[in-house]
Amino acid sequence: MRPVRRAAELGSLGRIEHVMPPSRKDICDCSVLEHASKEPDHTIRWDERLNEYYIVHGKSGRLMVYYCPFCGGSTPKSRRSLLFHTLTDAERQRLCNLTKDVRTVQEVIGAFGEPDIRHPVGWVSTTPERDGKPETTKSYPVMIYKKLSDIADVHITIYPTDRVGIRFQGKGVTNNAA
Ligand SMILES: [Zn+2]
Repeated sequence: MRPVRRAAELGSLGRIEHVMPPSRKDICDCSVLEHASKEPDHTIRWDERLNEYYIVHGKSGRLMVYYCPFCGGSTPKSRRSLLFHTLTDAERQRLCNLTKDVRTVQEVIGAFGEPDIRHPVGWVSTTPERDGKPETTKSYPVMIYKKLSDIADVHITIYPTDRVGIRFQGKGVTNNAA
């Protein structure tokens, strides 16, 4: 509890140069982040599934917190790396070669057959308001191929001109690795 109070006092002190920072820790155990994340609508949040603290910004932006800003200690080890397979350089290269000549929907289906999944609204992109232009959101259909790689799904984004964008996304380690 003490560090929480200290942070609160710090905020109320006009002459910050008189405040000594707390000594720096290796592992955060000061609980300031924990308390903050339990406040409703606080910008610091806790992701239970990923085991990580993050700062929210904008509508869906996330900045991951690696070190506690209050005691300098490391935050808990993220589970992020355990959730998805990581593409090796060799597999990324293989998939790039496999897909390098397909740039339209017809070419994709000609090369790989029908996709395993079709999402009519699979990719949504929002451009913020800027220079007097309103915020715009575009959505694109996405086709997903799950059998082109053991460790990645291949996502094909279909643009209105019938051109496609291709990305490789690590498969989940536990659930949908098949
Ligand atoms: Zn801390």
